[in-house]
Amino acid sequence: LTADRYPWVTRAPHLSRIEDKHVAAFERLLGPSGVITEEEQLDGYNTDWLKMVRGQSKVVLRPKTVEEVSAVMRSCSEGKLAVCPQGGNTGLVGGSVPVFDEIVLSMSLMNNIIKVDPVGGNVWCEAGCVLEAVNTHLEKFGLMMPYDLGAKGSCQVGGNVSTCAGGLRLVRYGSLNANLLGVQAVLANGDILDCMSGHRKDNTGYHLRQLFLGAEGTLGIVTGAVISCPTLPTSVSLACLGLDDFSKVLTTLRTSKRILCETLSSCEVMDDTCMDAVANKLGLKPPLGSHKFYMLVETHASNPQHDGDKMDAFLQELLACGDVEDGTVASEPSKMNALWQIRERITEALSRDGYLYKYDLSLPHEKFYEIVHVMRNRLRGVKAAKTVSGFGHVGDGNLHLNVEADAFDQEILEMCEPFIFDWTQKNGGSISAEHGIGFKKAKFMGKYAATGKASLSTMRAIKTALDPNGILNPYKVLPPA
Ligand code: FAD
Repeated sequence: LTADRYPWVTRAPHLSRIEDKHVAAFERLLGPSGVITEEEQLDGYNTDWLKMVRGQSKVVLRPKTVEEVSAVMRSCSEGKLAVCPQGGNTGLVGGSVPVFDEIVLSMSLMNNIIKVDPVGGNVWCEAGCVLEAVNTHLEKFGLMMPYDLGAKGSCQVGGNVSTCAGGLRLVRYGSLNANLLGVQAVLANGDILDCMSGHRKDNTGYHLRQLFLGAEGTLGIVTGAVISCPTLPTSVSLACLGLDDFSKVLTTLRTSKRILCETLSSCEVMDDTCMDAVANKLGLKPPLGSHKFYMLVETHASNPQHDGDKMDAFLQELLACGDVEDGTVASEPSKMNALWQIRERITEALSRDGYLYKYDLSLPHEKFYEIVHVMRNRLRGVKAAKTVSGFGHVGDGNLHLNVEADAFDQEILEMCEPFIFDWTQKNGGSISAEHGIGFKKAKFMGKYAATGKASLSTMRAIKTALDPNGILNPYKVLPPA
């Protein structure tokens, strides 16, 4: 249980405990199928994807409409019952599961794609829509979602908005800060805030939709979103490169920006430990011989000739300067998919046989991989630590640092935290690039929030104004007072 593993967190005494009368009231609101109380069914909602935290919720609510969410929140607000909103439960910082007995509010049944505007290039959808399903629907209109994650088959648009998800193509299409055009949210008191007009430009007062971006369920329940969608590319190429030195990864990144220019859609890196993990644990075939680093460089374009010419020029330059040892290029969907699988399933491979300590850091490029060496040295004598590895969105300066162990080990935790956060701060980085703060990093927000003390007090003021009873995802994001 989370509470056993992290004894510094205590249950907020002002929050009520759920009783039979509450369950009966929820059943009246949602119907019996909208309320789950059976022990076996609760387990999946109480446990996070990485299996690092486990809550003790006794009730899961599954509303189907915004009115139902509103009624649930009004009732929880009156009864001072805490709520943990949950999307696809793929979050990696322990934000999507309860810490104690908070009610889980699952958004999975609010999964309607409301409409698509093919001219403006926008999609209106409910929060529980699975990312991949929205993407598949958009293809019919020649559009795509502006972001893509390894968790696309399970994560939901509401969860993506609430974590301000980054992903594999941010280098090209930008972050949700720009692509989120509208939000519908239910506030702690049950009020429905509707900012779903979806105008690309709208300066009528405060940009309220942005409040819910990255709020991780602490300011309201996101029930709908409008997302700006780029045109689906008609020509896609993907190069996989093998390199023997990280400095060459950085020069290759620069070369890709210079030569591939407006067609560059993704630039990812993984080290040999990650490649070994997907090969050995998942049986995926490595595309190249052995190298210290592998890069995936993708282009999205509209003209195969133009795309192909640019990719050729890029590869020729890499061969001429000697930065890349080996490489392969694919443009058939099945081959590209096989390459992406290797990158997208690294976390699954690393966490398969034990416990994974996972850190999601923004770092200046010259420091990007250094922390992997630092942690290998630091954990050298610690038997329980099996591997230290790094991969991530090198185009965005976002490293995923991983320490693999057979099981959770307190000594490793203390060797990693707060050391990694201190190191990151000292080197001008951020302790959360795209995964958020959730439960795992809330304790550290006071010291390491990238934007400093005044921002923390402003966050607290916003939280108090919108959720005066602290019922929305307590123990997450903000440090204990
Ligand atoms: P959940 O995990 O269910 O919830 C995440 C947080 O949002 C929680 O705090 C929850 O309370 C809150 N929340 C969820 N839905 C709502 C809602 N409707 N209203 C209010 N609050 C809500 N992340 C990236 O950014 N980039 C990546 O490339 C990436 N790759 C991943 C690859 C894998 C294999 C996995 C497992 C995860 C990856 N992630 C990545 C992390 C995760 O997928 C994202 O954070 C994703 O956006 C979470 O969406 P979700 O629906 O699963 O949300």
